[in-house]
This record gives sequence, C-alpha cells and structure tokens, in this order.
Amino acid sequence: MRITDIKFAMLKVPLRTAFKTALRTVSEIEDVIVIVETDTGHTGYGEAPATAAITGDTHGSIIEAIKVIIKPAIIGKDISNLNELTEIIQSSIVKNYSAKAAIEIAIYDLFAQLYNAPLYKILGGGEPSLATDITISVDYIDKMVEDSRNAVAKGFETLKIKVGKDIGLDIERVKAIYAAVKDSAILRLDANLGWTAKEAVYAIRNLEDSGVKLELVEQPVRADDLDGMKYITERVHSPIMADESTFGPKEVIELIKMRAADIINIKLMKTGGISNAIKIADIAATYDVECMIGCMLESSISVAAAVHFAVSKSNIISKIDLDGPSLCQYDPVTSGVNFNNSEITITDAPGLGIEHIKGLQMLDI
Ligand code: MG
Repeated sequence: MRITDIKFAMLKVPLRTAFKTALRTVSEIEDVIVIVETDTGHTGYGEAPATAAITGDTHGSIIEAIKVIIKPAIIGKDISNLNELTEIIQSSIVKNYSAKAAIEIAIYDLFAQLYNAPLYKILGGGEPSLATDITISVDYIDKMVEDSRNAVAKGFETLKIKVGKDIGLDIERVKAIYAAVKDSAILRLDANLGWTAKEAVYAIRNLEDSGVKLELVEQPVRADDLDGMKYITERVHSPIMADESTFGPKEVIELIKMRAADIINIKLMKTGGISNAIKIADIAATYDVECMIGCMLESSISVAAAVHFAVSKSNIISKIDLDGPSLCQYDPVTSGVNFNNSEITITDAPGLGIEHIKGLQMLDI
C-alpha cells in the first residue's frame, strides 16, 4: 500500500451554542481535511483546525506545510513502514504540530486498514467505549447554570467549566454551577491562561474553603509560566492540569520533573499526531502521572483518532475531554466511532472506519 496522492478539503459544521473561552469565541467548526490516497484504493483521512491562539496553526499554514514540505517527502512511501513515515513527518519541518497531526492521523488510519483492524487494536487494544465530559462556555452566571443543567439532563456526568475572565465573577460562576449540579456531576475548571498565579491560588482556595469540590483545574496561567504552574500546584489541594503549557514529549518530561502540574492534557493537535502522543502517555505512565485526552474545536475525524488512541492508553489516560462532536449541531462523518452525547463507542471497522463525510468541500490545490 503506497501513497499516491494527498488532497485537501474543508469541512464546516455549525455549533449548537457559541464556544466561549478566556481566549476566543467561535460559532462553527471549520477544519482542514487531509485525504491520503494509495495504490490499493484505500483512503486515509486526517483533520486539523486552525487554533492560532494556542498552536500558531492557521488553515493556510496547515495546508502549506503538508503540500509543500510533507507531501513530497512521503509520496510513494509504503504505509507498512509506519515508524519511518512518522519519523519523516515529525522531522520534515519544525513546529506546525496541527499539520503533522492531520497527516499522521490519515497515515495511522491507512496503517490499521492495511491490517484490516480498527486503529485502537493496532495501537494495543482496550475497551472500545469512553465517556466524555462537555464544555460549558464562559458566560453570564444564569446562562452557565442553565447550560450545566441541560448537559446533566442529556446524561453528561462531568462538566468542564470555562473560566478565566474575571476572578471575582469566576468564583461566583463556579459556586452557582456547583450548587445547581453538585449531586449529579463532577466539575472540572479550565481557565485557559486567564489568571495570574496568585489569583489562581486565591480563587481555588476560596472555592475549596467554601466546600466546592473540583476534580481538577486546567491551565490557570500563561502557557510559558511553568514557575506559576508550579507555584499553584504546591499551594492548592485540587489537582492542577497542564494544557497549553505542554505540547511534546520533552516539555512533558520537564513539567513532570519540575512538578509543575499533577495531570497532563494530551491533544493530538499539540503533539503533532499519534506517534508523540504515544510517547507522552508512556512517559506519564512511567512517572505515574495521570493524563487527559483533549481536543481543539475538531469534528469527528481527528476526534475519532483521539478516541482510538485514548482507548489504547486507558491505563494512564483516565480523563476524557473529547466533546468536539457533541458541541456540533450534527455529526457530518459516518465512521467507526459513534458519538452519542457523553457516550463514545468504536465498531470493528478497519482504521478509523470513515465511510462518508457530509458537506466536504474539496480544495482545488
Ligand atoms: Mg484547555
């Protein structure tokens, strides 16, 4: 099975409600889809969103990195040489992690198709079902409480509350949500770089002292402020999770050695795809540091890959934040991964099992 061509398309899916964090507001998913064709007629699919504020990747940079740099380096290569292919992809260009993730996802899809097995089995197996949390966007308190109640009614047992806008209001937001759903849902907070280290310690201690139980608090301070992350981790009881602060395996090692966080959030768009995500999960497992699997605003192609990966590393990936497809008005992708609100299941279809993508707009480039 040799690579014969790589094509590009765009996929747009409207969100149910606007996605609001301390960094941005988004009303639809609009992602680059990468289609890898082979001489056996098998097709592999990958996906990457533009997340300029976090990874620096834009639609243009994703397409250009693959079209100009990665594509010429892997055309004609044999899919069976997976390790060689991922090595070429990772070393072909610095950074550009989302571009690398999109192409790696398609390559892994094909590699699993080659052996006629679902991807998670090729990655080592596991129990093919997960339960994801759902994001509650930062908003007026009443709206956040209403969104939280609605999510619980739909069967979500874990809510990821976006905060990081205004410290006083953030504390009130969390207290109000906790009062409304504490008996039926676990709360995670994501401050998306929105606080200073001292503000974070103040807010988390205030919440802890008033009896609010938090499963974890994600990325309270700036991505490059590892000292700030460490300062907070040392001073609060609630586990602190690194998201924007850690991308690849080396950063994870540094973070763990510094004890700058208790939990690592792995996202394929930060690691540059599955090969580095595997390394990170294994490093974290070696140090007994729990991981979350997360996603950007992605639809059910790249999130399907994250699902397969997370199932295969369930020994250390104990927290699932793969709500991209649940935030969409509909799922445009028919694949081997079924997203049904909080419940995610995988069928026995080979690879990612992608059969159809509704509304795919091919790019003539
Ligand atoms: Mg986050």
